[in-house]
Amino acid sequence: MDPLFPALDAAHGEALRFGDRSLTYPELASAAGSLALRLRDAGRVAVWATPSLETAVGVVAALLAGVPAVPLNPKSGDSELTHILRDSAPSLVLTEPGVQLPPALAALDRHDVDVRQDGGDHPKGPPGEPAPESPALIVYTSGTTGPPKGAVLPRRAIAATLDALEDAWQWTGDDVLVHGLPLFHVHGLILGTLGPLRRGGSVRHLGRFGTEGVTRELGSGATMLFGVPTMYHRIAEALPDDPELAKALAGARLLVSGSAALPVHDHERIAAATGRRVIERYGMTETLMNTSVRADGEPRAGAVGVPLPGVELRLVDEAGEEVAADDPEAVGEIQVRGPNLFTEYLNRPDATARAFAPGGWFRTGDMALRDPDGYVRIVGRKATDLIKSGGYKIGAGEIENALLEHAGVREAAVTGEPDPDLGERIVAWVVPADADVPPSAAELADHVAARLAPHKRPRVVRYLESLPRNDMGKIIKRALAES
Ligand code: ATP
Ligand code: MG
Repeated sequence: MDPLFPALDAAHGEALRFGDRSLTYPELASAAGSLALRLRDAGRVAVWATPSLETAVGVVAALLAGVPAVPLNPKSGDSELTHILRDSAPSLVLTEPGVQLPPALAALDRHDVDVRQDGGDHPKGPPGEPAPESPALIVYTSGTTGPPKGAVLPRRAIAATLDALEDAWQWTGDDVLVHGLPLFHVHGLILGTLGPLRRGGSVRHLGRFGTEGVTRELGSGATMLFGVPTMYHRIAEALPDDPELAKALAGARLLVSGSAALPVHDHERIAAATGRRVIERYGMTETLMNTSVRADGEPRAGAVGVPLPGVELRLVDEAGEEVAADDPEAVGEIQVRGPNLFTEYLNRPDATARAFAPGGWFRTGDMALRDPDGYVRIVGRKATDLIKSGGYKIGAGEIENALLEHAGVREAAVTGEPDPDLGERIVAWVVPADADVPPSAAELADHVAARLAPHKRPRVVRYLESLPRNDMGKIIKRALAES
């Protein structure tokens, strides 16, 4: 029995389904077990992380073998792939049979994963059992604020975060997860794939996310949905015309959003149409999960819940002092400590050292407030979402939420840019609902001023056809500034 997958040998039902292909637990144990035997001396392995059975089997096999796996985004360009391969130096790449790999991978040995391989007896624990601190996965950050960094994640962190979520979400082996996320980040790989497999539950992957798939799976026995805000936005947009979708969501045990802030407007539209509230959790590649609304707690629009079991969380001001815990207006940087943390950024001792404050606190770079009962509200990222204007510090997120409540706005992002009088002025980047009749800058400024405060109104509005987003749907603000 592998300590990361205590259910692998014991469970019998369906483990994984991608489209019309699936594996039961005995089939998964067999395929991953036999691949693990071949990987034992491999050093590091890259995984060409298409949304497929092969990716899941490849990652589980590497974990069983105690060989660090580096999931690669199949949509990465050659320069990003070259950077990641140089940085992580894998000896081979695991892939789906039949896919064509780009030139950046030409120098690697290729191993086509065979998910039907019957390995017979697979390695069961010692003598090969890897130490808890040994690196299990090297996951690259999303690259939202700069080039992706490789976070070295030990087995201990993966186990800790999944156990904390098990507690917070009352997550069991009976849960069936609807999954529409990519498999090369923490959300889709660790939470969405390894999470169910750790407990003997099952995963149904939609391939490409679509609301029809959500309706079909939640309507036929699935219990949970994990999504990013762009998915919940599509759900919110579809709900008025889709009573079947509303019914399916109403019947789910848990709807979870993460990876970026869920706009309040989408949260509320979903609640109104289904009677169900999406719960938010907050995490990072480096820390895995930090906070969540608990399954038995109160979902709250715009809040990411409370620290997970085992996670210490504090808010720190610019002087490095903890802000008062009972002051709901006090914004500080979120710092965390706990068994969920990564070990280091690969090959980046400088960045690793900068990331930690004295005492082993990890500086997340995210700014937040705390409700009186301890619920954390993320204001935005320190680097891009805190605008210093006219002597105020203004969070981009609440202005974005206010803009999204305007019927003429489909998407919105807010940034600051230098201003001779104000220090920085607030700029709204808006995708109009109807490109022919975009709401005017004055109208949007009044709309925000009436909801928030006059000093929070955007001074400049720029109209776009779409916002630059990465493959997790996160808005890339540095690309806005360059556009
Ligand atoms: P990079 O570090 O390369 O710039 P990234 O920070 O987007 O990219 P990830 O580790 O994938 O890479 O994302 C973690 C970040 O995502 C957090 O620091 C936070 O800013 C954001 N985030 C995650 N969950 C939430 C949430 N529920 N609400 C708001 N923000 C969130
Ligand atoms: Mg980051």
